[in-house]
Amino acid sequence: MNKNQLDLLVALQDIDLMLKELDDVKQLGFEVRNEGAEALEKAREELTQKIGKPLLGKYERLRARYKRAIVPVKGDTCLGCFMRLPTYLITHKDKHNQIITCEGCGRILYWLE
Ligand SMILES: [Zn+2]
Repeated sequence: MNKNQLDLLVALQDIDLMLKELDDVKQLGFEVRNEGAEALEKAREELTQKIGKPLLGKYERLRARYKRAIVPVKGDTCLGCFMRLPTYLITHKDKHNQIITCEGCGRILYWLE
């Protein structure tokens, strides 16, 4: 696994949240330009092709449970559930390149630094 995959996943989540927003706007009865949604769907498709199947599956499972499947870590705290992460994760030398999940909420972590 490499950082690239994590970056792609963060981008994918962005697109999914934007699609969700479009949907919410539609639910409220506003007109949404179709091209907007189509451009997002297309970008999503291109991204998912670059992400490994197991990782994508993990993301989709998390997304079914949480609004955000990937959450940032600030200092030593998961900003998804505010649990402090164990030291071995904080000091993990390859943490930026590994898919690491929070032991508290199970979400995929990315590191703010
Ligand atoms: Zn967490």
